[in-house]
Amino acid sequence: MKGYYFGVDVGGTEIKFGLFDDLQRLIDTHKVKTPKEDVRKEIVETIFNVVMEKLDEQEASLNALLGIGVAIPGPVIDGIISTCANLDIGTNFDIATKIKERFQKSHLKVVVGNDANLAAYGEYKYLNNNKIKDALFITLGTGIGGGVIINRQLVTGYTGSAGEIGHIPYNLNNKRLCGCGKFGCVETVAGTSGMIQTAEELMKKEKSVMEKQTITPKLIFDSAKAGDFVGIKVVDSVAKAIGEMAVAVSLVYDPEVIIIGGGVARAGEFLLSKINYHFQKEARFGTVNAKFEMAKLGNDAGFYGAYYLLLE
Ligand SMILES: [Zn+2]
Repeated sequence: MKGYYFGVDVGGTEIKFGLFDDLQRLIDTHKVKTPKEDVRKEIVETIFNVVMEKLDEQEASLNALLGIGVAIPGPVIDGIISTCANLDIGTNFDIATKIKERFQKSHLKVVVGNDANLAAYGEYKYLNNNKIKDALFITLGTGIGGGVIINRQLVTGYTGSAGEIGHIPYNLNNKRLCGCGKFGCVETVAGTSGMIQTAEELMKKEKSVMEKQTITPKLIFDSAKAGDFVGIKVVDSVAKAIGEMAVAVSLVYDPEVIIIGGGVARAGEFLLSKINYHFQKEARFGTVNAKFEMAKLGNDAGFYGAYYLLLE
């Protein structure tokens, strides 16, 4: 009999599913809107319904279900979701137990983890398949997230805050308040709103092709590629912040590979080469040998990571 695993990535707007068979192949994906009311109950109900529907499509019974891995946008400690900024689920939600109860299978394997951490783990496993021992994953988007892999294990830390590399103090004089409540985090320079703010500040003094346009990260990168002074300056400020942060993090555990992912990473080689330049310029000792790689899984990284966590 064939067996099936589900990786589920619960986001603020949608829930993504990946269905894997017992030969480690992704065989189907699915997406639904995240419920907005009675969220605790409805998330479990949504997962139950989609899993049952997908098993049915495979003409498989519930006995063929080998496990469900769930990625959640908040800190997770010992499988319990402590809080969640983007989901109205209150505090200390034991989603794994609720899922097992809904399936009426107390032995069903259900694992839960933080989405940024699991995206890191997904990319790491997919890229390296255990050949690499130590890796750092950096995700560039609205926020700057990350994941730390040491000795092939995802590090979550004492309070689930390991890998929050976007909040490493970077420039304490920049007076920009971060979403975390502190000033001067890497994210206030390299996150999307930080990039836009830098562009607006520079445009008060410099001419730019971006004038009279709605400034977005894409416009900034396009302008930089076309040689616009302000665009180039902004991209360089992002690359410097990320490169120097990677220098600091690398000195803690000397990773072999640094994987860059997230929406902003779509700028590709143009951005990667600039991050690498700042990293090479400032790296100390052997950490200079770390190789930069682009992430491969895009928006699927979260459910891949949740699936890989199941296989541990
Ligand atoms: Zn912060």
